Amino acid sequence: MKTNRGSDRILGDNRQVRVTEVIIDRALCIGAGNCCGIAPDLFDLDDDGKAYLISGDFDDHSRIIEAAWSCPTDAIAVFGDGGNILYPPPDRRSFRDA
Ligand code: SF4
Repeated sequence: MKTNRGSDRILGDNRQVRVTEVIIDRALCIGAGNCCGIAPDLFDLDDDGKAYLISGDFDDHSRIIEAAWSCPTDAIAVFGDGGNILYPPPDRRSFRDA
């Protein structure tokens, strides 16, 4: 069953991906807290109101992608095996690189 979740759109039928690294660009983070709401066991806000990782447990890849997708500034980059970037997708990367 298809849903409207960001992770479904990003991952499509490829459910076998393994998240190996998550990087938060503190310069892009505006402290909106969306990532913390979706994955409170992975993300928290520091004293500067910037997100940081509180765990390296990346087993729930769909939720990590969902948290990254929820970020209004695409401050969260998610990588998989071989350093492949899983998020943001190519059509949103120009926003990060600008
Ligand atoms: S959703 Fe994005 S902007 Fe908001 S706290 Fe998380 S990383 Fe920062």
